[in-house]
Amino acid sequence: MHIGIIGGGPSAMFVLKRLIELGRSDFRVDIFEKKNKLGAGMPYSDEGARAEHITNVSGNEIPDLFTTVEDWVGMNHSVANSYDITVKNFNEYKVLPRLLFGEYLSQQFSFILAKAERMGLKVIVHYQTHIKDIRDLAAINKVELISRDNRVFSFNKVVVCSGHYWSKHYEDIVPGYFDSPYPPHKLTHLVNQSVAIRGASLTAIDALRTLSLNNGSFSLDEHGKKIYRLNKDCPKFKIILHSRNGLLPAVRFHLEDSHLAKDSVLDPKEVEHVRAQHHGFLPLDYVYQRNFLEGLKHNRPDFYELIKDLSLEDFVELMMIRREDTPAFELLKAEYAEAERSIALKRSVYWKEMLAILSFAMNYPAKYFSAEDMLRLQKTLMPLIAIVIAFAPQDSVEEMIALYDAGLLDLITVGDKSQIESVKDGGIYYHYIDETGQKVSSYYETFIDCIGQPHLNYDEIPFPSLIADQTVSAAKIKFSDPQIAKTYVNGGNKNVYCDTTGDYYLKVPGITIDDYFRVINNSGEINEKIFMMAVPFIGGFNPDYSGLDFGEAASARIVEKLI
Ligand SMILES: Cc1cc2nc3c(=O)[nH]c(=O)nc-3n(C[C@H](O)[C@H](O)[C@H](O)COP(=O)(O)OP(=O)(O)OC[C@H]3O[C@@H](n4cnc5c(N)ncnc54)[C@H](O)[C@@H]3O)c2cc1C
Repeated sequence: MHIGIIGGGPSAMFVLKRLIELGRSDFRVDIFEKKNKLGAGMPYSDEGARAEHITNVSGNEIPDLFTTVEDWVGMNHSVANSYDITVKNFNEYKVLPRLLFGEYLSQQFSFILAKAERMGLKVIVHYQTHIKDIRDLAAINKVELISRDNRVFSFNKVVVCSGHYWSKHYEDIVPGYFDSPYPPHKLTHLVNQSVAIRGASLTAIDALRTLSLNNGSFSLDEHGKKIYRLNKDCPKFKIILHSRNGLLPAVRFHLEDSHLAKDSVLDPKEVEHVRAQHHGFLPLDYVYQRNFLEGLKHNRPDFYELIKDLSLEDFVELMMIRREDTPAFELLKAEYAEAERSIALKRSVYWKEMLAILSFAMNYPAKYFSAEDMLRLQKTLMPLIAIVIAFAPQDSVEEMIALYDAGLLDLITVGDKSQIESVKDGGIYYHYIDETGQKVSSYYETFIDCIGQPHLNYDEIPFPSLIADQTVSAAKIKFSDPQIAKTYVNGGNKNVYCDTTGDYYLKVPGITIDDYFRVINNSGEINEKIFMMAVPFIGGFNPDYSGLDFGEAASARIVEKLI
């Protein structure tokens, strides 16, 4: 058996770790990494971070690897010291500089490789080898990988761990237009004007930190509160965040279960049993009950009593009303204070913790929701989940508050129908309808798209033969009631369609995969050889992807069928 892994970031590391845990050496593995370093992937290397960027998880929340971050800091003083982290001041409850975390991951990867060697498992790493295509050779039961320099490698099975993918549309064509804030060194220039940012969550915070550090400086006032001072050379610098609902991300708090009850994912047998009772669908309400309400009932009975009779929609509305009724930065300050208390008392804000668990647990069975439930999820639950599980780190929130208090950070609500119009000679017009119903068109010389990693469509996969040979298919979810589907069609929803057998489907982003991340073609045939673990391409069936914890969980499933 010869296995090829595309990408050498955290996901590839989890897959290799799982393979090693099998204790076998009767197979071979080749890893292809386009850069010259393993482990750090995109977010924890200079592709995705500078010194000012931090993780949103702390040392104790990281899935088990070879050494804990704390022990690693002890063994790597000089690297850690360069980020002002020492054995003495290391706090496993605090988030980490992303570049430092990348160094940690990189070394963990090398420990895994060393272990493979000791076990006699042959692993070859092809550095600086960018795979440009994947060909499924069904007739000879092989998969070919083709590199940019046109070398061809043949395997029995392939796992795609190519990770983040930020396509460029206007960047480098329209001056002042950035399709994403990555790599962040492109934002290190002085900006003497208002900068428009689309998005108000973690990606926006990344942009905001780089921009603010390069146009001014943070310090502490006499009460120990962070304040911001602009550079003299850029008096007009200001950041304007634009968000659909005018909400800012919730602040990180103390987690009661640092690994967020990752064992709470519904057992496949339970999923099968429930689906059998519901014409093949898994009801969203069932998952909400099992992975949210039950946890609250056991751990916070008072809160449970308050919400137990509410529908999912009513619960979300209740939680959103508080957010919507309080000005965003006032709420941010209040949540910051609440999070400080939570951390000091080591007491979780439990409903938020449960929501993170629900979001993680929903990933695997979401493909069995009906289209009606998937639409409910997208419309109702996901907006709340997205805000709550962002877990904005304290440090970043302090900077946001300092910028806001200095009058240099604003948030505008742009609703669902806003448009960005790029201007050939530079900049953009932001068109939206404001909260009073007025049409607004604002010009900005600099625009940064910070909506986060988009869920990409199946035809955006950067391996053309997978699409040309129809090895993969566009993900879709069936409606349980054709009459409901028809109302969407009649209402002009372009994502709802009727197939040749008369069944109605909802198109969702990405490709079709099974429970083991194997790709599925248009005829519904599972491809036993190709596994897709790159999250941008499975966003439809995997609506919440949760970072490293996803990598740990998905790799376990993949390895079950890989060998
Ligand atoms: C800015 C940012 C911050 C984040 N912060 C956190 C966090 O704090 N905590 C958390 O849990 N999660 C975080 N995440 C989520 C993140 O997805 C995961 O933590 C993790 O990076 C996923 O690893 P990956 O290997 O799937 O993808 P990536 O990290 O993107 O790594 C993919 C690797 O594959 C290589 N590659 C890609 N294409 C090819 C190709 N065609 N040929 C060869 N090599 C290729 C790349 O060079 C890269 O090394 C963050 C994500 C972003 C974008």
